[in-house]
Amino acid sequence: MASESTDVDRTDPVYRAWLKEAVRKVQADSNRSADTHLLRFPLPEEWGIDLYLKDESTHPTGSLKHRLARSLFLYALCNGWIRPGKPVIEASSGSTAVSEAYFAKLIGVPFVAVMAKTTSQAKIDLIEFHGGECHLVDSACEVYEVSAELAEQTGGHYMDQFTYAERATDWRGNNNIAESVFAQLRLEPHPEPAWIVATAGTGGTSATIARYVHYMQHDTRICVADPENSCFFEGWVDHNPDATCDRGSRIEGIGRPRMEPSFVPGAIDRMMKVPDAASIAAMRVLERVLGKTAGASTGTGLWSALRIVAEMRAAGERGSVVTLICDPGDRYLDKYYSDDWLAGQGIDIAPYEVELERFLKGEGGLS
Ligand SMILES: *Cc1c(COP(=O)(O)O)cnc(C)c1O
Repeated sequence: MASESTDVDRTDPVYRAWLKEAVRKVQADSNRSADTHLLRFPLPEEWGIDLYLKDESTHPTGSLKHRLARSLFLYALCNGWIRPGKPVIEASSGSTAVSEAYFAKLIGVPFVAVMAKTTSQAKIDLIEFHGGECHLVDSACEVYEVSAELAEQTGGHYMDQFTYAERATDWRGNNNIAESVFAQLRLEPHPEPAWIVATAGTGGTSATIARYVHYMQHDTRICVADPENSCFFEGWVDHNPDATCDRGSRIEGIGRPRMEPSFVPGAIDRMMKVPDAASIAAMRVLERVLGKTAGASTGTGLWSALRIVAEMRAAGERGSVVTLICDPGDRYLDKYYSDDWLAGQGIDIAPYEVELERFLKGEGGLS
């Protein structure tokens, strides 16, 4: 865990110079970066409903985890948790590790990712590309304990995204994802969205968006879409912080086997369970509509956002809805974009694809 270390003299000028330089490098990376786009997902004009996608796949490390990794590194550095020459270790389903490997290399410390062996090879390659090392374990449930053990053995720091994601992020502003979305909506017909739909892995993104909305006194509501094999939905519905699930999520990046400390249920207005087949169908429809591939968690959010659009339509409401493109599809060509993989998993996306295509043509609702 992120314990206080005793092996560094924090007043040592050498350590202080290292710390300043590390913080400067992370801040400078942010200063060189541009904002991510808010794309329009076309819907029939007469509906009077606008759907937007915040495209987080364009960060230097390709996912919304770039924001999280930056926040976690700054938080850990400023807390004195990262020491020169000692590894940073993370329990990760992949994307966080890709982004953290990037920041570890930036500040010159080793990085080790502890992940389930089902993680896609493309992500493993990316972590190694950024100079990280991958430590694969049999199941997603083991990653926490193994990470803590590795940190103990090496004198390194277990970053622990599932605990610290929500508190490392500046939720009041500082160009966080929510502030950026609201600024980008300013000249739109409905600048205050009726709903923002997120998905949850750490829960950090939904917590940041929800807190910002409440802090800024917006009327926007927050929905979190949850995949199969995740306990977040049940835990939220039953108000049960001890909810668990004994199988791992098939949708990379989201769905957890336990209620993570960084998931903040009280900030969320609604949750929606989304079948994995519906997530993948929506992901594939996104490519046909926008010419852009994305990961399956983007499909989970998109399916849920489109269901909300369908409800608004049925109720005669106008307004806007926002969801996210979480990461790019090229990481999953041998997985969600492979019909063989789908067949092997017994996933039939065809009925959901048909339903979506019909809905988008104005010929029906969404179940
Ligand atoms: C982490 C992740 C999410 C969810 O974001 P959190 O802020 O961790 O809840 C969604 N999609 C992908 C691909 C992710 O890696």
